[in-house]
Amino acid sequence: MAERTIPGATDKSVLHKFESLELPSGLTQVEYIWIDGTDEGVRSKCRTLDFVPKKAADCPIWNYDGSSTYQSEGSNSDLYLYPVALFKDPFRRGNNKLVLCDVYKYNKLPVESNKRKSCAEVMEKAKDDHPWFGIEQEYSLLDYDGYPLGWPKNGYPGPQGPYYCGVGTNKVYGRDVVEAHYRACLYAGVNISGCNAEVMPSQWEFQVGPCEGISMGDELWVARYLLHRVAEEFNVVVTFDPKVMTGNWNGAGAHCNYSTEAMRKDGGLEAIEKAIEKLSKKQMEHIRAYDPNGGKDNMRRLLGSHETSSIDSFSAGVANRGASIRIPRHVAEDKKGYLEDRRPSSNCDPYSVTEIIVRTTVLDE
Ligand code: ADP
Ligand code: MN
Ligand code: MN
Ligand code: MN
Ligand code: MN
Repeated sequence: MAERTIPGATDKSVLHKFESLELPSGLTQVEYIWIDGTDEGVRSKCRTLDFVPKKAADCPIWNYDGSSTYQSEGSNSDLYLYPVALFKDPFRRGNNKLVLCDVYKYNKLPVESNKRKSCAEVMEKAKDDHPWFGIEQEYSLLDYDGYPLGWPKNGYPGPQGPYYCGVGTNKVYGRDVVEAHYRACLYAGVNISGCNAEVMPSQWEFQVGPCEGISMGDELWVARYLLHRVAEEFNVVVTFDPKVMTGNWNGAGAHCNYSTEAMRKDGGLEAIEKAIEKLSKKQMEHIRAYDPNGGKDNMRRLLGSHETSSIDSFSAGVANRGASIRIPRHVAEDKKGYLEDRRPSSNCDPYSVTEIIVRTTVLDE
């Protein structure tokens, strides 16, 4: 086995001794998870509860130091965690839980990085249209030194071609991480629907969905949290950066597949085409919402090459992976289904993405 000498790495198997300790009955460990001020990083901290929460609202509101998460000034630093979605904890198992939270200031207003609140309001207004989403989350695995996992140090692997959905030791790097994450998501209750190796070696994808309304953002954020945690076990690093390597290497996106009830019904292609017409008039508004830096991250990725559209022009087409919006071939044939918005960056906030899609196509804003 290849030796990897990694600063700070511990033998993860030692923890098993302690995982099998019995907890005093009735006590539950609950890991509170939230999104930090970068609108990209996830944070979490744990507390003991003396009951087993059955839903997020059973978990008490909690607080933390927002001045250490790029979210508030040190002089007025307390921020509030409002539990919104409860999952099983695949690391601690048993009755232990993960609870996703959104973040509020002392005056009960959402912090700037809380994109969930307005997303939830939009989803509530659009609920009769039953918006469904499925996000394809691409990401890259890095070694502790920040270089792609498995790539020759001070060099490059062979050119892209054999890696997408690749099989074999010289084609994929880190499959055990991917496999562990998939299991952890299923156990936790995340609606993960698939995974595959991507075009750039050590780049992977998992899909979450279809999820209705606000649950798309909730489930994807928890899936990202789980991926970072699982990767700790393997001493590797996960990045959601949309262009890890410049040059002839694919970037990473978060294609957002989207449908309403009207699109899913017989003849729904007409509703899909209407939605595309509306989307075509709002290119820059969408680009601003499709990465956490107002479009700057996507400037590195949406180059009109490497299976992407260009950032400043809108296009749509059947089976076209170089378009902003792709209508999958089978959707065109069935004349119903969904559309794929290929523009969201891998590090997008899914609350922002799903919110603007519904604002544009359902609420006509
Ligand atoms: P691609 O061919 O672009 O790689 P994937 O198979 O990776 O597509 O992902 C397709 C995604 O579309 C999945 O996340 C799936 O849940 C989602 N999806 C399927 N049907 C619908 C639908 N009717 N509405 C929204 N999303 C859907
Ligand atoms: Mn302290
Ligand atoms: Mn895919
Ligand atoms: Mn992909
Ligand atoms: Mn896709």
